[in-house]
Amino acid sequence: MPNSEIPVRFARKRPDGSYDLPFPMDPVELTQYTRGIVCKKVDGTPYRKYTKFYAVGVYGGIATAYSVGCNFRCVFCWVDWSRDWPELYGEFYSPEQVYLQLRAIMQKQSLRRARISGAEPTLCPEHLYQVLDLVHQDLKAFDLFVIETNGVVIGTESDVAKRIATYASRDPHDNTVGHVRLSIRGGLPAPFVEKTGCSEKFLDLPFIAAERLWDAGVSFHVAVVVDPRFTTEEEKLEIYSRLSNIHPSIRRGVEEEFLDPYPHALVRLRAVGRTDVTGLAKSSRERHAEKDMPPDWQQTQI
Ligand code: SF4
Repeated sequence: MPNSEIPVRFARKRPDGSYDLPFPMDPVELTQYTRGIVCKKVDGTPYRKYTKFYAVGVYGGIATAYSVGCNFRCVFCWVDWSRDWPELYGEFYSPEQVYLQLRAIMQKQSLRRARISGAEPTLCPEHLYQVLDLVHQDLKAFDLFVIETNGVVIGTESDVAKRIATYASRDPHDNTVGHVRLSIRGGLPAPFVEKTGCSEKFLDLPFIAAERLWDAGVSFHVAVVVDPRFTTEEEKLEIYSRLSNIHPSIRRGVEEEFLDPYPHALVRLRAVGRTDVTGLAKSSRERHAEKDMPPDWQQTQI
């Protein structure tokens, strides 16, 4: 178990403003630990945990595989408790099963786009590559396959960006349909810790990921939370400056995010004292998400 032998659920602050352990946490250790729960090999086939498959309206309509397990603990995260208790949620699917689920939704809803969302898709890279292999054997059916990532794995494991480039190339002649959406959560140490739950020494990882994706020729863009409740103008300019230094076109292509906190995000935000966002009174949506939490954890609320 990483991070002081205490499971990494969601960040909580004590009345004096300090974090309850194991926060701030180590996302590289959490990557390894979460892999042990959500990725497994059966007879050489890499399986990964998912909770559901569905279609949503973003990206002009997209079939979505909702995977389990992340190595960040963002306070505004919209994902349900499968992020924090990956051992309790989801079933294992092979790459072929994921591909077939996505194709069935696409056919039913006349869609040509798909993605893996709900968590960090690069946690199980071999599984991801095999899904992308299947997609690229069926290029007539797809015009886009989105890989949404926080960049921790790409920033720490040097071969991942190069491998992704074979499915998500910036060169149109390569005939790939992959595209990476890289989320950069923070540009200054203290707000990076506040937003992601990670120790500040990992602040550079998403920027290293951006550099590697650029150098490998990957088709990608960066999403930045510019919502002033979470990111000051100073921090936003720092993020933009670092992206411009990698290449000005990355800065120009930034997707700016404003947040509408979902029920589970409200619980997480209240746990770190952000009543300026949640409001003092709990809404019924927040209470519902709270009740949904594993019972043993509810009893340890601070
Ligand atoms: S990176 Fe995405 S999925 Fe992971 S904790 Fe942050 S918002 Fe949630």
